[in-house]
Amino acid sequence: MRVLLIEDDIPIQELLRAYFEAKGHAVSSAADGVEGLKAFNAGVPELVLLDVGLPRLDGWAVLEAIRASSAVPVVLLTALDDTDDVVRGLAMGADDYLTKPFDVRELDARVQAILRRLEVPETLSSLDVGDIHIDDRSKTVTVGESFLSLSPKEYKLLTLLASEPGRVFSSDEIIAHLWPDSDRAAANDVKQYIHLLRSKLYRSPDIGDPIENIKGFGYRLNG
Ligand code: CA
Repeated sequence: MRVLLIEDDIPIQELLRAYFEAKGHAVSSAADGVEGLKAFNAGVPELVLLDVGLPRLDGWAVLEAIRASSAVPVVLLTALDDTDDVVRGLAMGADDYLTKPFDVRELDARVQAILRRLEVPETLSSLDVGDIHIDDRSKTVTVGESFLSLSPKEYKLLTLLASEPGRVFSSDEIIAHLWPDSDRAAANDVKQYIHLLRSKLYRSPDIGDPIENIKGFGYRLNG
């Protein structure tokens, strides 16, 4: 899912970014209302988190401009004691709100509830890890500007690793995912596909080798 964060409090913006990226979502952000609207128009996000108190153009004006053209779910970020903001925001077409400050567990619970309520699909239609962009609707992978031609198995392997960047996947997990019906697949097959995928990803000079072999444990994709 493409998430847009419009928030001028940078630690909060970074907390939210880390949270959504860890879930595999593509995050763009802006620190004022004008840039926020620009990012909105450029990126067609599927979820917007919008701070109320923003420089240059406040959250109300941003919300109004978004609502003039889009029904995208908008979640307001408000300070704890601003119940008036919440009422006003919901009246203006915001879908929900998060009160600041929040810790990660609270954030997670709230966001899950909001996504369920808004029926925003949590299944990924696209995924970004570093410079790697995976579009699951068209099954295409781009690295920077260049398209990669992947076999279905390579694609499956990449999306598995990309579903949780930084997490180590064991050979057994990869086998279960790539060859669910076979009892003959072995760690060597995994090795071979990792090699194939790595050589394709490696062709892009910008990113180096994003797949890391953790000896004795498995493989992970680094963002
Ligand atoms: Ca603010």
